Amino acid sequence: MSMQGSVLAVGKCLACLEFMLFPVWRGIGAASGVGGGWSQGWGRCLRWEPDSQGQGPRIPVFDYPVWLVLCRGGRARLREVCQRGRGAIRLPTDMLSIKLPQLFDIHQVPKVFREDSIISGYRHPRSSALDCVLSSFQMNNETINIWTHFLPTWYFLWRFFVLCSTLNFLTDSYTWPLLVYMLLICIYPFTSSCAHTFSTMSPESRHICYFFDYGALSLYSLGCAISYGYYVMPDSWVNSFLHQHFVPIAVGNTLFCTSLSCYSRFLELQFPQRSKALRTGAFVVPFMFDTVPLFYRVLLCCGGSCSPTDALSSHCYHLLFAFLTCFLFTAHLPERLAPGRFDYFGHSHQLFHVSAVVGTHFQMEGVIADMMSRRAWLVAHGAMPSFLGTIGALVVSLILNLSIIGIFSAPLLWKPCRSSSQPHTSSCECKEQ
Ligand SMILES: [Zn+2]
Repeated sequence: MSMQGSVLAVGKCLACLEFMLFPVWRGIGAASGVGGGWSQGWGRCLRWEPDSQGQGPRIPVFDYPVWLVLCRGGRARLREVCQRGRGAIRLPTDMLSIKLPQLFDIHQVPKVFREDSIISGYRHPRSSALDCVLSSFQMNNETINIWTHFLPTWYFLWRFFVLCSTLNFLTDSYTWPLLVYMLLICIYPFTSSCAHTFSTMSPESRHICYFFDYGALSLYSLGCAISYGYYVMPDSWVNSFLHQHFVPIAVGNTLFCTSLSCYSRFLELQFPQRSKALRTGAFVVPFMFDTVPLFYRVLLCCGGSCSPTDALSSHCYHLLFAFLTCFLFTAHLPERLAPGRFDYFGHSHQLFHVSAVVGTHFQMEGVIADMMSRRAWLVAHGAMPSFLGTIGALVVSLILNLSIIGIFSAPLLWKPCRSSSQPHTSSCECKEQ
């Protein structure tokens, strides 16, 4: 967490703090330095004790605003510096009153918030919405989870807007599968990022946030099915039974996926293994179904019956990352090997997010390449997308999936406090902590 404060005048600084000072823009025409510019703050460190040569304390003088990066316990040490400096160090009075949300260890939060092998860095289980937003700028065990899906949202949005300027999504029905796919690859990381941000408002909000996360992932699988069904389907399968029923089956898969993954949360505390298995299965089934046409094309190529294309190599990279994503989701590595060492950086869920996003990037490239290169052939063979098979399927699935989320969320919203380990009961447990 960084805080900006103006160090108004530092006369004698007796500090030995491990505070790093970062340069700040002093503005055009600042008193020292030609034309203002950046202060010389890089790498400077305030020291509290006299140095080892007994030369006495250094006396740095700052006549410009500085950024202080306070680590855990840093606020208390800064307060101590101000007291021991006896007025030599003056800080804006409100600076030390800014309260960073406190973080907790695993045994301090209710079971429903605990993550496998993550020992520290938990946010308060009853955070306000504002605390949740602010916590995304404070290092805790969810911060990287939030950003690894928030930033890619903007990347996919940018790719979407670039496509909007080159393709005619409004009237060219051939582009509608790509339109649906692009919308969904923007929505799923954004929903995930929001779920990770607001999941500590209460036990109920945690479950509801992840219901939406699962719903968005489930709809993303529909986006894959629609784009694969129209652009990636092998030549020999076009107009087959599977081709004609690919999207309706995928709509059914989203209902299965959302229902099962939401249900799995109700088993999490009592039967964690079963819950994990159900949730993994819920996402693997639509993925395997969506990818059947792609597997077939890859197999054909491996058998030498096709010429490798850019699209196919992108699809292969996507498959590689998809398997890595699945492995990271189930294996809980590396934190399982060293619990507590990867609480903030490098735990499996962060790697899972990154792998999923990189995989989606390659998938998007593959879909776009197939769409561009196969247009003439697909149109000639009557495989034009319909409104109902693309945007219609998305709208129907969206309504049905929101209904499922509503059904699972209703008991959490209406009966927030009961006994036992069901998710909707854990608010009692939370209040006791
Ligand atoms: Zn996540």
